[in-house]
Amino acid sequence: MNNINKIEDYLDSLYPNPKCELNYNKDYELLIAIVLSAQATDKSVNLVTPKLFSKYPNLKLLKEANIDDIISIIRSIGTYNRKAFYVKEIARILDEECNGVVPTDRDLLESMPGVGRKVVNVFLSEFYHLPNIAVDTHVNRVSKRLGLAKEKDDVLKVERRLEKCFSKDNWAKRHLQLVLFGRYHCKSIRPNCDNCLLKDICKYKEKK
Ligand code: SF4
Repeated sequence: MNNINKIEDYLDSLYPNPKCELNYNKDYELLIAIVLSAQATDKSVNLVTPKLFSKYPNLKLLKEANIDDIISIIRSIGTYNRKAFYVKEIARILDEECNGVVPTDRDLLESMPGVGRKVVNVFLSEFYHLPNIAVDTHVNRVSKRLGLAKEKDDVLKVERRLEKCFSKDNWAKRHLQLVLFGRYHCKSIRPNCDNCLLKDICKYKEKK
């Protein structure tokens, strides 16, 4: 069995049905939740979005919301001034330029404030089930530790390497599994190496 098969088997055994941990009910709620999750945990985002989306239950109300009120709702997740602006502006663009529907067009999505490649990849794979591998801090770290990418690779290079490692049908699932593996098992500090079945192929463990 090669290393990639070993990694896939282990991820499947740990996380057979991985799910996105952000809560949402509508397409734009997911997009905004992903934007809000930059430098914040999904858990902390899930604590503020119910209030935000129930107080402003559609795009028209959200784009016209008082920015200070949005700030007061999302303050606990940090970088709230910038994120409050993103929320209003994304709502405005979706309402006025996209018929109220989050598009699948990557260029259009990436033209929105706060929406970069990683946000688009997460959104497209989660909401539209389009094959994409988003490389966040967990995926980046874990991929390098497991030798799926090289230490010097930037996130786009890591994405390209992961696309080659895994079957396209599984890209969305592998992304979620690597996120969960990095979040709960192969943590940045004090990874759970003692209980890890990948230690024989792990570069990080080898170095230690
Ligand atoms: S051995 Fe440790 S560092 Fe390597 S993949 Fe497992 S948990 Fe992560």
